Amino acid sequence: MSVVGRLAPSPTGAQHVGNARTYLIAWLSARSQGGQVVLRIEDIDSPRIKPGAADQALEDLRWLGLDWDGVPVIQTTRMPTYRQALEALKHQGRIYPCTCTRTDIERAASAPHVEHEGPVYPGTCAGRSVAEADDLDAAAIPYCWRFRVPDRVSQFEDGFLGRCEVDLRRLGGDFVVWKSARAAAGVATPAYQLAVVVDDAAQGVSEVIRGDDLVSSTPRQLLLYEALGLRAPRFIHVPLVVGSDGRRLAKRHGDTRLSALREAGVSAQALLGLLAWSCGWQADCRPVTARELLKSFRLTSLPREPFVLSAECLRMLGYA
Ligand SMILES: [Zn+2]
Repeated sequence: MSVVGRLAPSPTGAQHVGNARTYLIAWLSARSQGGQVVLRIEDIDSPRIKPGAADQALEDLRWLGLDWDGVPVIQTTRMPTYRQALEALKHQGRIYPCTCTRTDIERAASAPHVEHEGPVYPGTCAGRSVAEADDLDAAAIPYCWRFRVPDRVSQFEDGFLGRCEVDLRRLGGDFVVWKSARAAAGVATPAYQLAVVVDDAAQGVSEVIRGDDLVSSTPRQLLLYEALGLRAPRFIHVPLVVGSDGRRLAKRHGDTRLSALREAGVSAQALLGLLAWSCGWQADCRPVTARELLKSFRLTSLPREPFVLSAECLRMLGYA
């Protein structure tokens, strides 16, 4: 079966050097296997979406020389499909309505917070049935839908990291598949986990390559694949790009937006040369195109550590 990879920019902000490295790896992996690449704009997180950022993301990808097959899928046009998936989960009784506010959860949570994960959901509403949602609707009480996670450690095989184990009970607990209207600017919307699974399955994605900050999402998504009777892709999590202080790329590390590099006259080939060197595909940073990298691409040559985008790297690009 032929490989289908995907690029899934989120227009919640500008695409930066870190995103470019992950997109490059995903694109090269699929294309070097003679596979397809599909594109999706993950724009359901409406309060955080920046106007114009989706078009900018497509321009960034074209600038990098990363192409895709078919028409991009836009998440905000797919609400009926996400609703169908929600109905399927309700039908199976795998989810329940939860009326807790963030403050309720923070007060009730006894376990310490895990970074980026928020407090562990203590299961306050886990005894609720699907049918109780009708009473909540009648009383105009906002609620989200949570998926019951199993009482065991989740395991999966990652294409880069190898065997991964995640204890979802300790890492967030029962997770949200549908946000309440209260949390999402007045409109109840699918949570990232549900939309991604529904879309990857609909787009026939067989290989998901993304940053290793999303490792803990994978067991949640695998539960959804199983519950929805969908075939799960192969997951490959790659190290992130960090600043010289070892922390995730942020404003304090300077302007690493691709649009800023482009405006400053940095060529895509120069950036790709730096990224190819950082991935172990060439011995130096000489400029290169994405297509030229197809023959040197190897997932196994990728260092296990995050790539440190130092000031020296940026100077090498003639930037900063
Ligand atoms: Zn609750």
